[in-house]
Amino acid sequence: MAHLIDGKKLSAQVLQEVASEVKMLRAEHDIVPTLAVVLVGEDPASQVYVRNKVNRAEEAGVCSISHHLDAECTQDVLNKLIDDLNNDPQVHGILVQLPLPSHLNEEEVIAAIHPLKDVDGFHPLNVGALASGRPSLVPCTPQGCMIMLHQVHPDMSGKNAVIVGRSNIVGKPMAALLLQENCTVTIVHSRTKNIESLCRNADIVVAAVGRAKLINADWIRPGATVIDVGINAIDVDGKRKLTGDVDFESVAPIAGAITPVPGGVGPMTIACLLLNTTRAAKRQSDKT
Ligand code: NAP
Repeated sequence: MAHLIDGKKLSAQVLQEVASEVKMLRAEHDIVPTLAVVLVGEDPASQVYVRNKVNRAEEAGVCSISHHLDAECTQDVLNKLIDDLNNDPQVHGILVQLPLPSHLNEEEVIAAIHPLKDVDGFHPLNVGALASGRPSLVPCTPQGCMIMLHQVHPDMSGKNAVIVGRSNIVGKPMAALLLQENCTVTIVHSRTKNIESLCRNADIVVAAVGRAKLINADWIRPGATVIDVGINAIDVDGKRKLTGDVDFESVAPIAGAITPVPGGVGPMTIACLLLNTTRAAKRQSDKT
């Protein structure tokens, strides 16, 4: 049976590190790392994500300020809020919960956030910095995946890594991070041919697809490490249940290590958001 990479346990350790850092910043520099969280509309999943982020922030001593705009708010109103937060010296990180209602332009909003306060790491300047291997605010989910991978592979040099999915928020930044670790990286997606055999050749498989249980034991080389980013709600016996992109029951007996869903990448994403907020606070105050 594969070694279980426990995201709950590992994220608690990361949050502990954040809490110590926050304590030091408060005591020695009178800085309180502060995260502004912007939610537009009433999407139930987004509300849950925002609540979890705010709760974890509180536990780590990071101050969070929530801004809830109604679903019909205009682009101008949202842009004005971002502008105010950019100019507020008390705010170190800005998170706009995605997806936004369809009448709003996400790219415009992402580009409006000051790169130093872009704790999601989605601003084009941070994307470029990551791609060229310079220090930057790194997107939280791939950052969390890397912390998990380091648990089982302190040295990833020369490993074959396959990422299933090429989104801007997971697949592409994940590829940049694995490349920095000297992995040989392949990204596969909906147009890829022979996707199963490409995955079967991998030492590391990162699944970020959004298709419940797509990846089964036939895709995985015995002993490989499998990181499951997917969060899919499925119906089991009339009850709503969260499951990953990996068919855990079939893959766990043959993989070397695997992350569960829930309790895997999800908690790591939130922990890395708070890590980024603390880093942003330090950088903005020249305390790096
Ligand atoms: P996304 O933007 O929808 O991208 C999905 C990617 O998967 C696309 O590149 C798509 O290919 C590819 N794909 C779709 N069907 C495929 C198939 N049958 N075979 C191979 N590739 C296929 O999704 P995302 O935002 O990256 O999120 C992916 C999953 O991770 C979702 O379940 C999401 O909820 C979850 N997620 C979890 C966290 C966390 O904290 N745990 C954070 C972010 C996302 P094309 O590009 O060709 O369309």
